[in-house]
Amino acid sequence: MRGPAVLLALLLGVAAALPARAGPLGVTLSDPRDRAHLSALYGAWREAGRDLRDLGLTLPGVRLEAASSADDFARRTGEPWFVAATTRNGVIHTQRLGALAAANRLRFTVRHEAFHAAQPRALPRWLAEGLARLFSGEAARDPQTATGLEHVPEAKLNTLLALRNESGLTAAYREATRRARRLVAARGWAGVLRLN
Ligand SMILES: [Zn+2]
Repeated sequence: MRGPAVLLALLLGVAAALPARAGPLGVTLSDPRDRAHLSALYGAWREAGRDLRDLGLTLPGVRLEAASSADDFARRTGEPWFVAATTRNGVIHTQRLGALAAANRLRFTVRHEAFHAAQPRALPRWLAEGLARLFSGEAARDPQTATGLEHVPEAKLNTLLALRNESGLTAAYREATRRARRLVAARGWAGVLRLN
């Protein structure tokens, strides 16, 4: 039944991309139940676009493809199941929207990937991730305890972020966020974004 399933995904993608409210985001769904989350998705995208504009950044037109399951997401991206989304060649790949919404991560995920879509290309990985988590609001949930990585050089932090090791990844994201927050406090968003 591969044909009909693919066709359904294509039709949903076209239908989702058509309404004027969609703005620059074109969405392809794999699970029809995800349609229930489209308005939340577009709302978060528009809000992110406005907030990025306030930072002097422009949110470009982007495609988003939501997987049908964690296995499907892993197959498409090579990312582990616990990753919410990733951007490849200008396309945002996400877990099933219903799964993100159930985990209260849909808005955070959209804002995080929107930041990556709009950020200066030259940002080092740790700074891009830290800023994306500050911008999305995810950082507000971080415990204010030591990350254990306070003295790790930036290059090593970049490596930890790239490794996608489940046990170390959360600490690496928190540490990147801690450093990004300090930079933003000292120089402001405009100053940090201009540095790169
Ligand atoms: Zn990211």
